[in-house]
Amino acid sequence: MSDPRASEVLARVFGYESFRGDQQAIVEHVIEGGDALVLMPTGGGKSLCYQVPALVRPGTGVVISPLIALMQDQVDALTELGVRAAFLNSTQDWQESRDVEQAFVAGKLDLLYVAPERLLTDRCQQLLSRGKIALFAIDEAHCVSQWGHDFRPEYLGLSMLHERWPDVPRIALTATATDVTRREIAERLALNDARHYVASFDRPNIRYHIVEKQDVRKQLLQLLRQEHAGDAGIVYCLSRNKVDDTAEFLCAQGIDALPYHAGLGAAVRAQNQSRFLREDGVVMVATIAFGMGIDKPDVRFVAHIDLPKSVEGYYQETGRAGRDGLPATAWLAYGLQDVVQQRRMIDESLGDDAFRRRLGSALDAMLGLCETVSCRRVRLLQYFGQTISSCGNCDNCLNPPESWDGTVAAQKMLSAIYRLMKERGQRYGAGHLIDILRGKQTPRVLEHGHASLSVYGIGQDLSEQAWRSVLRQLLAQSLLMVDQEGYGTLALTNESRAVLKGERTLMLRREVDRPVRSTAPRGKSLQPDMPRAALPVFEALRTWRAGIARSHGVPAYVIFHDATLREIAMARPDSLSALAHVNGVGTKKLESYGESILECIADFEEAA
Ligand code: ADP
Repeated sequence: MSDPRASEVLARVFGYESFRGDQQAIVEHVIEGGDALVLMPTGGGKSLCYQVPALVRPGTGVVISPLIALMQDQVDALTELGVRAAFLNSTQDWQESRDVEQAFVAGKLDLLYVAPERLLTDRCQQLLSRGKIALFAIDEAHCVSQWGHDFRPEYLGLSMLHERWPDVPRIALTATATDVTRREIAERLALNDARHYVASFDRPNIRYHIVEKQDVRKQLLQLLRQEHAGDAGIVYCLSRNKVDDTAEFLCAQGIDALPYHAGLGAAVRAQNQSRFLREDGVVMVATIAFGMGIDKPDVRFVAHIDLPKSVEGYYQETGRAGRDGLPATAWLAYGLQDVVQQRRMIDESLGDDAFRRRLGSALDAMLGLCETVSCRRVRLLQYFGQTISSCGNCDNCLNPPESWDGTVAAQKMLSAIYRLMKERGQRYGAGHLIDILRGKQTPRVLEHGHASLSVYGIGQDLSEQAWRSVLRQLLAQSLLMVDQEGYGTLALTNESRAVLKGERTLMLRREVDRPVRSTAPRGKSLQPDMPRAALPVFEALRTWRAGIARSHGVPAYVIFHDATLREIAMARPDSLSALAHVNGVGTKKLESYGESILECIADFEEAA
């Protein structure tokens, strides 16, 4: 039985026709007072799952979120919808906090955002006891997991909510998909009777593209210029230095790029984040310190120029693209050096063997995704225990790579390494190894007498690049390792033997020189395609929106999402009642902007 109050709020406040996926079931369960644990991908629509019940149930919905820097935007977006929302965090002065506290006690708030460290104080708990609470929403609930990179110790204290307010429903939400994290959240937040809702983690509008790293700056620039000129996007790097260098490089190339990492002062970070959210077409070059909770809907690409440490991290980071359902790109460049570097980092990491093994298998899964010759999406979702058929929207589906029998090539390479391993104390790298295989007469080869090795020149059939690819894949599959004790040289592993003895066939991925721009159409969209004729109206509406957003000091998408403007541009409504039918136009926005939109369309038609 559907609850008419939920649909009424959905239509009146948010202007949406219907719930998506599990939203309705979740909303109704929480309205009735049930606890819920919600796993939904980024862009899946988690916010409505607690916002709608908070508006239907008597009292204030208390939202616990670690993202202090984003609370203002969240509250602004709700205020635009006519929802009475506020936050309590350390950025406020005494008077501001007091005003919010009074409004809460007087029952004048629909939603109250609180940082976890604040919630755990006696003062805050006493305050909450003086008002009526509709529900507790624990956002970014994976922060309770000690294994994830977003761990926040304060989250562990949140299990007290249940003890102190046993009758208030709790809903925990996260975009992290693994079963282990789900069980951990349920246990640590004492969500013993919560119903679990696990959505499909597929993001069909994101096109996955993984390329071999050559000249990564040039490759990145090509991606930005040819496929994403003028688009907003994120470029992830592993180190702070690389962030700074890459941002500088992109700026020098005329791209509006900003750096973000934990080494920058808080003010710089806040300013860069704010520019990224508020202005169109800004590229953020960042470490993984950036991104959680960023709900900018029109991020068109996420590029990784270093290999992520795990599939889970990669999925979270790429998931920040295309929240609005329009085509978006997840691009990753990866090469031999990435594998060597990450394996070394694991070897050198602090922690016991079990910890290192955990890191090692996370990396192996990521490497498997990079080297696969079949559908990337199938592989990605498999990791989260979900099954789909080939997607048609990843590089491997659009431009299938070949696999080839690399057994003989691998044997040649492994024997060369075996010969060199006998020369203890000598340090050599991939370049030298490949020179030997290809029979090159470099000074180094001559100096060490390596031209007389039996393996000298046995690999002239493959190019240098092809050999690098073989080497990378051997490392990726742990058929080779970087021997720390042997001065960081390459060494055989136990598994190498089976290949050397011919007991194991080895299929490898063949790199093809693929243009970044694929011949396939621009990608999948969850929105209807916009006819050409609607484009100029859409542009006029965007200009109108930019003006309003600037005067209100909020990001443009807080006024209306692109998806809503597209629908308006296609429908060209000529009355308020026609405009009210557009998805995303609720009562308050109709009242605030309806006339102004109709004028904008009328002006456009007159000029045309
Ligand atoms: P999440 O928090 O899961 O990343 P959001 O709550 O930000 O996702 O929602 C993603 C986008 O989808 C937002 O633009 C939101 O307005 C939109 N959305 C969510 N639910 C619906 C719905 N039922 N109908 C239309 N749009 C929706």
